[in-house]
Amino acid sequence: MNSKKKFAALLLQWNEEENRREMPWKGEKNPYYIWLSEIILQQTRVEQGLPYFLRFKEKYPSVKHLALAKEDEVMRLWQGLGYYSRARNLHETAKNIQQNYKGIFPNTFDGLKKLRGVGDYTAAAIASFAFSEKKAVVDGNVIRVLSRVFGVETAFDITEGKKEFAQLAQEVLDEKNPAIYNQAIMDFGGTVCVPPNPKCEVCPLNKICVAKKEGTIDVLPYREKKTKIRNRYFNYLVIKNEKEIFIQKRTDSDIWKSLYELPLIETEKPLTKNLKNTLLKFLKTEDFKIESSSKEIIQLLSHQKIHFRFIHLVVKDIRALQIEKARLVKIKALAQLALPKTIHLFLFEKSLL
Ligand code: SF4
Repeated sequence: MNSKKKFAALLLQWNEEENRREMPWKGEKNPYYIWLSEIILQQTRVEQGLPYFLRFKEKYPSVKHLALAKEDEVMRLWQGLGYYSRARNLHETAKNIQQNYKGIFPNTFDGLKKLRGVGDYTAAAIASFAFSEKKAVVDGNVIRVLSRVFGVETAFDITEGKKEFAQLAQEVLDEKNPAIYNQAIMDFGGTVCVPPNPKCEVCPLNKICVAKKEGTIDVLPYREKKTKIRNRYFNYLVIKNEKEIFIQKRTDSDIWKSLYELPLIETEKPLTKNLKNTLLKFLKTEDFKIESSSKEIIQLLSHQKIHFRFIHLVVKDIRALQIEKARLVKIKALAQLALPKTIHLFLFEKSLL
């Protein structure tokens, strides 16, 4: 048996034995639930995504329910999961399936790929799990396992590497059991061949694993591009009275689109000396006093470092204040709005939520 055939056989055997992770979406044939779980689990750990999957499934038991939901409600349910464009795409795609596909998911890889937010990986997962199409999934777990077992040193984040991994994944796919095989390799990458400290001693592939033999486990899979981190300074204004507070919705194509936030002054550097003047320009009035300014709070996103500062202002006549984009809302209505994590935490700590 060549090493590629052996690989699939050993993997399926591992899957058969005690190593299956029970998850509510395992063995699922309903493409809507598979799609939901796959979108939720992108860039998210299983433990974190699981409660969200259960909540979405309960609230929107069919694609029709999701299609008819209000955007704010979907965003609110997604709050805390991050990468909010996934939630917007999820909602848009549900509406598209309901309106243009009579509520029925396409049943092929190519058809699924036409849906917004559905890339190669998600299309392969749905096509193989729901319709047994012979299509290999390629995600971070799969790339890690393949690069180590077969000693592939091509960087996975360049065009050549993407092609090579896609081809290799397809070659080693067990065509008789595409659904079980795809699930097995993802589970294997998530539990045995993990990024640091893989469990090589108990690994059923350790006899054929090139990285183990050549001592290259720590450098594989190889990534070429370094991620550049952009620093952004978000100065949030807390302007409120007993009952109301200024809030705005993020509408630009940027992080947290469709979520709510406090009035924001974004700067490229920390706002320190120029604070008073910047506020004068922003508020177009002198009727304010700076009551306090919080310590800097940092939130790391995949390519961005957000420096938060919350500035409390006292304004004599809050109703006379006009802030472009922002509006006054009742403080008790804040709990209904989807908010970025750090703002949610801040408002919660100030007993405003
Ligand atoms: S031997 Fe180690 S590096 Fe190789 S596949 Fe198994 S766990 Fe991964």
